[in-house]
Amino acid sequence: MTQIPASATPRHRLVVVGAGFGGLEATHNLRNVDLDITIIDQRNHHLFQPLLYQVATSTLATSEIAWPIRHLLRKFKNVKTLLGTVDHIDTSAKTVSTIDGDIIAYDTLILATGARHAYFGHDDWEPYAPGLKTLEDATLIRRRILTAFEKAEREPDPAKRAEFLTFIIIGGGPTGVEIAGTLADLSRDTLKGDFRVIDPTTARVVLIEGGDRVLGAFSEDLSAYAKTALEKLGVIVHLGNPVTECHADGVEFAGQSLRAKTIIWAAGVQASPAAKWLNAPADRAGRVIVNADLTAPNHPEIFVIGDTATVANGDKGTVPGIAPAAKQQGVHVAKTIKARLSGDLTAKPFHYRHAGNLATIGKRAAVTDFGVIKLKGYAAWWLWGLAHIYFLIGVRNRLAVALSWLWISVSGARSARLITQRDAAEEDKLL
Ligand SMILES: Cc1cc2nc3c(=O)[nH]c(=O)nc-3n(C[C@H](O)[C@H](O)[C@H](O)COP(=O)(O)OP(=O)(O)OC[C@H]3O[C@@H](n4cnc5c(N)ncnc54)[C@H](O)[C@@H]3O)c2cc1C
Repeated sequence: MTQIPASATPRHRLVVVGAGFGGLEATHNLRNVDLDITIIDQRNHHLFQPLLYQVATSTLATSEIAWPIRHLLRKFKNVKTLLGTVDHIDTSAKTVSTIDGDIIAYDTLILATGARHAYFGHDDWEPYAPGLKTLEDATLIRRRILTAFEKAEREPDPAKRAEFLTFIIIGGGPTGVEIAGTLADLSRDTLKGDFRVIDPTTARVVLIEGGDRVLGAFSEDLSAYAKTALEKLGVIVHLGNPVTECHADGVEFAGQSLRAKTIIWAAGVQASPAAKWLNAPADRAGRVIVNADLTAPNHPEIFVIGDTATVANGDKGTVPGIAPAAKQQGVHVAKTIKARLSGDLTAKPFHYRHAGNLATIGKRAAVTDFGVIKLKGYAAWWLWGLAHIYFLIGVRNRLAVALSWLWISVSGARSARLITQRDAAEEDKLL
């Protein structure tokens, strides 16, 4: 075991676990404050998850949506970055341990370890229907999509070829809708004319949603618009019946079998094990039920924020698991810590401000729901695009992403159409 050396100064020690939207925002807001911060993440990069589906569908390259955490924090002299996976917290000794045996002591702890996709008790479906959360997930999905077209080109049997050319997306939330729309664009636009045997434009993209509408968090008219817009792109939308089985040859739902070689999971989330580490109460998705000031029950020195926490949102249920909520919580916690350092120990409740919901449907339509103001179609797509470019980190990335989108819009060509890290054994098993 390695005891990470304490700072030479006896300053307050803050440990932040997770450099996603919440953890990074808290750290950023405590830069140059009189305390020592250690931020720990299991990955060396901060990931802009809202555009992950664009990596999975060959629109953007991995480096356009992820940035080295160490580099992002390099100018903040009170911040130390550690690459490590936390697997234990000793709340009595006030230490955090990593799987490599590092032990890091804290005075205040922020847990911002996010969530992953969940299979509602069917974890055995994951090999057949990968979810989208990390860059590895995105490149795996991209590889399966592009490999399916390649295998279809080599397949003499028309029935088997049809299975390679059928793509099923499970879950009609923003991620499922965005993947389905972009996959339809990919097959009908980008890949058109690239093959000699198959016609990629005949690929079937099927979206299966267990609820009675897609984009359930949006208003009903925008949900209806999104469904029609998907259908105009050629996506087959099934509503009202959850998938009951996933296997190597497709899915079962509504008493029928649908054969397909590529299935993508876009339903359900499960929080990180933060609740288990703290032995704290959690909701069904494993999120720590935090106090109104975002502290863990009985632990005023521990804050839990973002997707791994759940907190009431006034009379509107709970705060949603989206990036702006995690960022606002990061800001709130940073303010509380600053106040405490200056002697103000009063607990300040977190108040969430909802800016709106956005989702794209292919490369020319989107829906944006800001409560009173609702937009759909091309105008909404522009708003969606501008908002996402604004929230990307760095001028170079903003320009690169804007250029990629412009190029795709004009030519349909997607430069990130690469089959990488190919694992032949895995593909032989699944395809
Ligand atoms: C595909 C997809 C699309 C999305 N689209 C949108 C969207 O369009 N708009 C929107 O607002 N939100 C969107 N979201 C949700 C949004 O990304 C999350 O709400 C947000 O990332 C939550 O921030 P967070 O800080 O809680 O967690 P994350 O941003 O997930 O960060 C968690 C961090 O903790 C690290 N970590 C986890 N466990 C450990 C551990 N044991 N040890 C060390 N480090 C650990 C992870 O590596 C990660 O860096 C999307 C999410 C996904 C997956």
